[in-house]
Amino acid sequence: MCGIVGYVGRSEAAPILLDGLRRLEYRGYDSAGVAIIAGDQLETRKCAGRIADLGKLIGKDTPVGTYGISHTRWATHGKATDQNAHPHFDASGKLALVHNGVIENYQALKDDMLREGNHVFVSETDTEVLAHLIGKIYDSSGANGSTPPQNSKSRLVAAVRAALQQVIGTYGIALVHRDIPDFLVGARRGSPLVLGVGKDENFLASDVSAIVAYTRDAVYLNDFDVVAVERDKFEISSVAGEGGKYEVSKVEFTDEDIKKGDYPHYMLKEIYEQPGSVRDAMRGRLSHEECTAKLGGLEMTAAELRDVRRIVLTGCGTALHAARIGEYIIEQLAGVPTEVEFASEFRHRNTPMTRDTLVFAISQSGETADTLGALRESRRKGYRALGICNNVASTIARESDGGVYMHAGPEIGVAATKSFTSQVTIMALIGLLLGRMRHLSTSEGSAIIDALEALPAQIEETLKLTDQVRAIAKKYASVNGMLFFGRQFNYPIALEAALKLKEITYLFAEGHPSAELKHGIIALVRPDLPSVFIAPDDAVFSKNMNNIEQVKARKGPVIAITSGACGERLANIADDIITIPSAPEFVTPVLSVIPLQLLAYHLAVELGRDVDKPRNLAKSVTVE
Ligand code: GLU
Repeated sequence: MCGIVGYVGRSEAAPILLDGLRRLEYRGYDSAGVAIIAGDQLETRKCAGRIADLGKLIGKDTPVGTYGISHTRWATHGKATDQNAHPHFDASGKLALVHNGVIENYQALKDDMLREGNHVFVSETDTEVLAHLIGKIYDSSGANGSTPPQNSKSRLVAAVRAALQQVIGTYGIALVHRDIPDFLVGARRGSPLVLGVGKDENFLASDVSAIVAYTRDAVYLNDFDVVAVERDKFEISSVAGEGGKYEVSKVEFTDEDIKKGDYPHYMLKEIYEQPGSVRDAMRGRLSHEECTAKLGGLEMTAAELRDVRRIVLTGCGTALHAARIGEYIIEQLAGVPTEVEFASEFRHRNTPMTRDTLVFAISQSGETADTLGALRESRRKGYRALGICNNVASTIARESDGGVYMHAGPEIGVAATKSFTSQVTIMALIGLLLGRMRHLSTSEGSAIIDALEALPAQIEETLKLTDQVRAIAKKYASVNGMLFFGRQFNYPIALEAALKLKEITYLFAEGHPSAELKHGIIALVRPDLPSVFIAPDDAVFSKNMNNIEQVKARKGPVIAITSGACGERLANIADDIITIPSAPEFVTPVLSVIPLQLLAYHLAVELGRDVDKPRNLAKSVTVE
């Protein structure tokens, strides 16, 4: 779930490992640790809390050595304590292991080892059980201490394989052994791991951004890969013992791309990047000549696209909200029945699907465990399943039958912003493509292209609202929560705005279709709970007005996001009015979400929250 960095080379490992962990810090974690080997000394430092705390611990007494492993933990088994922080050790104390994921059968494995005696477990984690299991198999496979080093390397890899064959669950792991110099082993299943290939040095990391400052050559490991890493070589095989296929690829971005620049937070930087990221989502994909979108990555012929009778859009969190807008867009532009499914529900549910159903799995990281599960389940049942991801080398990107990349650049802020607007833009491209193959005329196609191409400049315009939004955030800084309402294309924006607020301010927030107000939510309305209405100048504006009146009649403060002339109609009723540029209904959500991202951001800053690393959250959720 969280972060792994491993290093073997000629430089001191401690600063490289610590630097790598810092680059993964944005993902959210609760403890951190390192293990470094020099000669016959296996040194470890670990603690609950921030990487800065680990840095202090290391600073007091820095472990020397040119190879080691490190970890940021996001606790699943056992509290966030020093003792539960990784690395964990085997019974001999010579093998150190870091692990992302969950060993589901850890209790049974632990009970077996406890029955055998000679195993004492010092943490509550599932990870420690895996360390003991690998160590036990390794120790029993050779006479201790008397084997030549080369032999120990293959024995350790064999022990990792044998242990992983007994494991049920998910893992990205990295380990070192005190008796085997300059040697790391890594493996993955369901939790990402990448090998960074350097000159006379190699790296392991759960995310390439941890090591891109050192090398841009990377091997993205596949599930069930085991990699043996030395300074000047590496070998990839499978858990079953077969030779693994691999490809060294160039990382798409540089270290510069993941710097915060002059922005106080990554989230704000990414909100401001949206004119560019939305443009990049469309780049090369719009054809003025044919008045349609071109999405070659779908890997589908025109005939196949025309045969699609039903679409399922699946994802989690913010990606699911983009999917909900996708449902409105695709049905409106293409008339293809579209459903949105929580990936976590869809993967375990027996949804009746017809042969001509097309599934889109949407995930910024491309590693979201539930979305990956939904993708795999769809493919297992024989449906064509496509991915919409930002991370080009991600598991979803590699396992899908095709798809559309967002090209949004690295998104570091835990609260997703630019990936959302890219996903909505891609929904519009899909709607346009499928629509033009059905009933949309060339002039309708052209008008859609014009609306899409106008977006980057309109987003620029919308971003100018930041001072007004900051003032509103200040005004409402003492409220206990907010309600969000919208209709049609902007109902999912109410959901997304509420999620943003919850994620980074920790305030209570709910999003609903405006009309639901009178079916229950109105009971919450009171003077200290503002309602935010997303009510642009569209076909349902007057319906939204009715709901705004209902809130005002009960003395609830109203903040309205509107457009065009509707601002005037709201002047005497809403407490605060934010006016975004006018746009056709299907692209409005790309604009209306921006002041709401800014509202959550400024409110979080006002409340002194840790915007980029909100409490309890992780950037890419690779556990179920
Ligand atoms: N399940 C392990 C633990 O609770 C690993 C958690 C993680 O992915 O960071 O320690």
